[in-house]
Amino acid sequence: MQCMHDVIVVGAGPAGLYAAKLLKEKGLDILVIEEHENIGEPNHCSGLVSTNLEKLVPVEDDFLEHTVSGAVMHTPAGDIKLQKPGIAAYVINRPVFDRSLAKGLEPLITHARCKSVTIERGCAVVRTDKGDLKSRLVLGCDGPGSVVAKAIGTGPREMLKGVIAIENTKDTSENVELWFDKKAAPDGFLWKIPRGGRTEYGMMSTMAGFERLTSFFKNDFNAPGIEKFGGFVPIGPRRTYSDRVMIVGDAAAHVKPWSGGGVIYGLTAAVIAAEIAGRAIEKNDFSADLLSEYEKRWRDEIGKGITLGLMFREFYKQADEETLKDFFSEMKSGKANELDMDLLGF
Ligand SMILES: Cc1cc2nc3c(=O)[nH]c(=O)nc-3n(C[C@H](O)[C@H](O)[C@H](O)COP(=O)(O)OP(=O)(O)OC[C@H]3O[C@@H](n4cnc5c(N)ncnc54)[C@H](O)[C@@H]3O)c2cc1C
Repeated sequence: MQCMHDVIVVGAGPAGLYAAKLLKEKGLDILVIEEHENIGEPNHCSGLVSTNLEKLVPVEDDFLEHTVSGAVMHTPAGDIKLQKPGIAAYVINRPVFDRSLAKGLEPLITHARCKSVTIERGCAVVRTDKGDLKSRLVLGCDGPGSVVAKAIGTGPREMLKGVIAIENTKDTSENVELWFDKKAAPDGFLWKIPRGGRTEYGMMSTMAGFERLTSFFKNDFNAPGIEKFGGFVPIGPRRTYSDRVMIVGDAAAHVKPWSGGGVIYGLTAAVIAAEIAGRAIEKNDFSADLLSEYEKRWRDEIGKGITLGLMFREFYKQADEETLKDFFSEMKSGKANELDMDLLGF
């Protein structure tokens, strides 16, 4: 059977778009398919990312909304301020960011939902509601509910929810605010992010929802002009490859298990996936054996951060108020000001 493309990328989020861009630069025949009509929409992300972003893609004014230099953590042991000289994190506009990554990747097929992936007679067959497509390799970059991950019999260990409400109120503060309140968010946290021209309130937890967000912040998030959205956050990666398939980004739970941040990890894994895909095509070898190198490489790069995040998550879930107070007191009495923003997992 003749495969139509070298690589089909399922999902046009940051992981898929960046992997596709890198593969296209290698001169390969790439097709990206996306279930929604417009790239970047619907939005489901705060877009708070550490300055590590600039090591991967140029930070453009178009998508940069604001910058922050630190965080104030409201904890059972009182407030802890973390500060970094200069910029600690960028607040980016995700839909605009995603569209900037999509430049040059035409023709993208939008409004095409992948329903399954099978391996048939030397090709990966991607079944979509617009017909079947065939390629030598598939990158599943289809987010937290990944169909491609299910097709290869894998998926995250746990799924959290995140909700966001954005007010049209100017907020040019230098700090993100974080609340660690087990009654409001038993296994997560709440936040306020200054977005320059706007102010964002959000929450991440298995219990996240707009009612909880409203009762915690005592704001009327149903008022006109407030933008509200939410999404799922996959936690804890398992196997991320199979014959002719690799999964990348949220599809593979390449997410910081504490903060739920996945943009930097997803882009990092996309670089590795593109490199291994290039090697597979060069050798004409799409076996799970060759693609296992992808998993080894991303675990080397981001696996430690994920394991530490999972450990902290377990500790936080099980800790009672007193234990948390002790923990944060310890942190407070240490050199908190010298701590890096990345410690918070952004
Ligand atoms: C409330 C909330 C706030 C967050 N805030 C931050 C933050 O501040 N910083 C941060 O780093 N991360 C944050 N995240 C996480 C971040 O949004 C994700 O880690 C990131 O979007 C992952 O990128 P991705 O490309 O892997 O997946 P996605 O961005 O989810 O993209 C997947 C794409 O695949 C498409 N798709 C899905 N299924 C199919 C299918 N079957 N066929 C075709 N197309 C399909 C989707 O439409 C989507 O466009 C947040 C998440 C939530 C829920």
